[in-house]
Amino acid sequence: MAMRRVAFHGRHLLSSPHLFRRHMNTEPMAALDRIRNSGLLKTQGLVGGKWIDSYDGKKIEVQNPATGDVIASVPCMGSKETTDAISSAYSTYSSWSKLTAAERSKALRNWYDLIIKHKDELALLITLEQGKPIKEALGEVNYGASFIEFFSEEAKRIYGDIIPAPLSDRRLLVLKQPVGVVGAITPWNFPLAMITRKVGPALACGCTVVVKPSEYTPLTALAAADLALQAGIPPGALNIVMGNAPEIGDALLKSTQVRKITFTGSTAVGKKLMEGSASTVKKVSLELGGNAPCIVFDDADIDVAVKGSLAAKFRNSGQTCVCANRILVQEGIYEEFAKAFVKAVQGVQVGNGLVEGTSQGPLINEAAVQKVEKFVNDATSKGANVILGGRRHSLGKTFYEPTVVSNVNRDMLLFKDEVFGPVAPLVPFKTEEDAISMANDTNAGLAAYVFTKSIPRSWRVSEALEYGLVGVNEGIISTEVAPFGGVKQSGLGREGSKYGMDEYLEVKYVCMGNLKET
Ligand code: ADP
Repeated sequence: MAMRRVAFHGRHLLSSPHLFRRHMNTEPMAALDRIRNSGLLKTQGLVGGKWIDSYDGKKIEVQNPATGDVIASVPCMGSKETTDAISSAYSTYSSWSKLTAAERSKALRNWYDLIIKHKDELALLITLEQGKPIKEALGEVNYGASFIEFFSEEAKRIYGDIIPAPLSDRRLLVLKQPVGVVGAITPWNFPLAMITRKVGPALACGCTVVVKPSEYTPLTALAAADLALQAGIPPGALNIVMGNAPEIGDALLKSTQVRKITFTGSTAVGKKLMEGSASTVKKVSLELGGNAPCIVFDDADIDVAVKGSLAAKFRNSGQTCVCANRILVQEGIYEEFAKAFVKAVQGVQVGNGLVEGTSQGPLINEAAVQKVEKFVNDATSKGANVILGGRRHSLGKTFYEPTVVSNVNRDMLLFKDEVFGPVAPLVPFKTEEDAISMANDTNAGLAAYVFTKSIPRSWRVSEALEYGLVGVNEGIISTEVAPFGGVKQSGLGREGSKYGMDEYLEVKYVCMGNLKET
């Protein structure tokens, strides 16, 4: 169990090497066979506990980004299927929300146990459809499962309040009640964890859910949903639809039965969903893009800074919203850091995630590679230097070389926007004030990282950073027990921890009056 809590980084995962050895160099077909044999290769949507195709029979193909091969086809659903999924969630809500907290907790705990039991198959599925190395995929399964475990426990702690009354014949109570049916829209970069950290607290609170996973990675979502059914989560409490994203999104937004939208994905789509939620005044949680600064001060421990920046930058091929997007390095340590960092990045092994030793898989698609190319070209045309990588990888397809770009400044796309790829821009700075000003010079505000040995400076800088998460001398900070979420245009609300429950609860005030005996 040592590898459970903190996700994604090889360091933690190495504590359980036998798990990986079993997977090493698995051929994609053998991996798929293994998943099929376990019964977890589900290729239909889930509505009201029934596996269904799209009503018009249309399908979409799911590809392995490492090979370009089609893994499976899933239904291309739209508004009709979504409306039915909402109805099923709505009718199940009345029974699920009335169960005792202990009953809901037990079903969630069963689900957690089943995810852990099938962690190897789920990890293979994640690597096949998303591309991340199997070690990271296993890390994601453990991380994803941890939300179900944590919220199965939190289900029992939805306490209300009794408020001292201003009048002696009254008693004032506060009840916390589930918000109702939830529409959850999730991205492809964490095919399991982005779902469990929404569905876990939603079900724990008594809500029912319609999930729309990314069309790039629906298979993990469907496998997880199958395990939820096996665990005793009632049919209709968790529904999965996928296909035409804007149609599904609109059906969720239009419905008066859907009381909450929770979304992880791009800032542009998040804004649309927030706008679309206005007409029915839904509760909204958004986890949107980041532009994480990673500040390395002259007084940092260089080994800690290199290790932390490497982990924060290259996890999932740079495709996470908390990935270090700008590595700001103080002048006095710049050359030494750049040298040590390049050396560390040279150790990143690019390849198919199923192959032993791979630490960087492909990017999700061609558009992602083109975006990376555009950002690197923009930087070099404005005076930055590529000091490592800087090209598509010789493996072809959507593989890109682990890249370090030096002398990046505020005018470059690499500074202004999220590159979402394996490119580390190094930005020199002079003073602490400069670093804070550069770090905050963005509309995003999700994660930030600081490397320094000074305790006063760590406090000062952590407090000055306009970000929802700050890692001090640590590059991997996500855990189910801490609140995850952004400020500014990185989003609304928090996921994980006790705060993650509030997003799925309404506060009801009950005033009991005329209590004096007559
Ligand atoms: P990314 O660039 O990471 O794929 P997106 O925001 O495009 O980010 O996708 C995140 C999720 O939002 C995916 O499930 C995608 O299908 C969904 N999505 C995209 N456009 C819309 C839309 N108009 N309405 C609802 N969901 C959408």
